[in-house]
Amino acid sequence: MTHPFPALTPEQKKALSDIAQRIVAPGKGILAADESVGTMGNRLQKIKVENTEENRRAFRDILFSSDASINQSIGGVIFFHETLYQKDSNGKPFPKVIKDKGIVVGIKLDKGTAPLAGTNGETTIQGLDGLAERCAQYKKDGADFGKWRAVLKITDTTPSTLAIQENANTLARYASICQQHGLVPIVEPEVLPDGDHDLQRCQYVSEKVLAAVYKALNDHHVYLEGTLLKPNMVTAGHSCLKKYTPQEVAMATVTALHRTVPAAVPGICFLSGGQSEEEASLNLSAINQCPLPKPWKLTFSYGRALQASALAAWSGKPENKEATQEAFCKRARINGLASKGQYIVAGKSAAAATQSLFTASYTY
Ligand code: 13P
Repeated sequence: MTHPFPALTPEQKKALSDIAQRIVAPGKGILAADESVGTMGNRLQKIKVENTEENRRAFRDILFSSDASINQSIGGVIFFHETLYQKDSNGKPFPKVIKDKGIVVGIKLDKGTAPLAGTNGETTIQGLDGLAERCAQYKKDGADFGKWRAVLKITDTTPSTLAIQENANTLARYASICQQHGLVPIVEPEVLPDGDHDLQRCQYVSEKVLAAVYKALNDHHVYLEGTLLKPNMVTAGHSCLKKYTPQEVAMATVTALHRTVPAAVPGICFLSGGQSEEEASLNLSAINQCPLPKPWKLTFSYGRALQASALAAWSGKPENKEATQEAFCKRARINGLASKGQYIVAGKSAAAATQSLFTASYTY
């Protein structure tokens, strides 16, 4: 924003805005491959593969060595610290593998949740100490954007005003530090899908959370053109008995965003939040068809909904490399279409693509 003590030069602003625009160029979204060691362990356990550094590397190697045409639908890849310093099977550093495909490299910067005392089990996010130094190092090591995931949960007594304010302020502080070091901050205030609340309650909470986040970003003089938002879609709670159509989800989601997210933000990249691969694609396509003003790109930054079929196809076996890449490229292509409102299901979806990927109280 315009203010008396400018924190970024016009050149720095242009560089940030260019990075953000590249990530969300038409038809492109983000692969969130930044699962921490523990989260990756849960994924590998499901396919009966041991959680070793080599197995984590091997799976990512397969995804990252997919055909370069993947850059038609993937504009950015988010790395976890360990992955940023790993290499492909020819000894080429992973960030270089991704950059050589014309895809932007990102890094997970938060250090997970910590309890907020005096609340009903709510949390804040750690990682601000030393963040400036880490950003400077990651920028040198090839990253051009960052990610910080804050978590809010819906119950009868949450999210509290304290949790909303604390997480909004922490996200803004992180975003400001990122921009000072040339990283585009992905601002992720995730409202968890746990609970039996209906669509309206999720919309109400999402609007409150997003309004607080943009107030905090403004207070911290964050340059919005050089940021991306990563929100939940507005959906009913996972245990809600009433089911809603993709059109209803889309209307609630775009209404909430339209009321709270400034048009200066170049892109909104949804997390998949435990939706099945198919659900996440159909909802994204419906969001892009929603007949409300949409001044930002509306695309994906999926973890589970881009990798579930690929993980199942891999099952830890090198001979399944081709099938794994095929499954991953297929989801990437479908979500690329969905980000333009052009995904229509043709025929029956594979079983793995329609399975719920929900995990209670999800950590990343
Ligand atoms: P999911 O798409 O699996 O929800 O994860 C995306 C992510 O990066 C969460 O921070």
